[in-house]
Amino acid sequence: SLSLESLVEAIKWDENGLVPAIVQDAKSKEVLMLAYMNQESLSKSVESGQTWFWSRSRAELWNKGATSGNTQDITSLRYDCDGDTLLVEVNRKGPACHTGENSCFYRTAATAAANEQAGSSSADLSVLGGRFAVLDELERLIADRYEERPEGAYTTYLFDKGIDKILKKVGEETAESIIAAKNGDNDELRYEVSDLIYHLLVLLRERNLPLDDIMHELERRHERPRRD
Ligand code: AMP
Ligand code: ZN
Ligand code: ZN
Ligand code: ZN
Repeated sequence: SLSLESLVEAIKWDENGLVPAIVQDAKSKEVLMLAYMNQESLSKSVESGQTWFWSRSRAELWNKGATSGNTQDITSLRYDCDGDTLLVEVNRKGPACHTGENSCFYRTAATAAANEQAGSSSADLSVLGGRFAVLDELERLIADRYEERPEGAYTTYLFDKGIDKILKKVGEETAESIIAAKNGDNDELRYEVSDLIYHLLVLLRERNLPLDDIMHELERRHERPRRD
């Protein structure tokens, strides 16, 4: 890896002394946001290990998350072939976007491919701003419980008990969902499937498997249906 001085030299700063920085989630690889760095914000980022940018609208240095608490811890910082773009991988403490979305790129343009998908039966799973946003929020809440282990929280209890307890609960909620479906009771089924999904998210956190990986697997299958 490079020293800060050689990094600054390797960057092709634009006429305003700025370079665009793409911020990517280190775990899920989701592209979170794009912002600009000047030399000072780059050195602050490198030295503090958190993302610092130059706000073009406010014309001031900006430590991402300073007011929202949604800071970003840098896990790697790279620049591209011609030195005109930075790629910053981060572990995020919360949503990257000031709208509360995890990623700033939550809106999808109506391209030919998107229109083709809209014509098919199921919704675009990649639009997390839609009805799947709650899953994303639940995943984040569970991740917070995992880190902080607040006393008295049921999720803390599950993580403290460990994987076998979590698997037992997944099994129980699966059985209860089956019974509800057999009973023909959709109020009960809605309740039990919600319990099941919550426990599955706890399991994914315990196993360190991002929900995003599941979403991408589902998308992959959706785009290329299996012929067998
Ligand atoms: P924060 O850095 O999260 O404390 O947010 C402080 C301010 O920075 C917000 O009110 C926005 O004006 C701006 N901001 C935060 N995140 C973004 C982003 N991802 N893209 C553009 N502006 C942002
Ligand atoms: Zn190249
Ligand atoms: Zn480039
Ligand atoms: Zn945004």
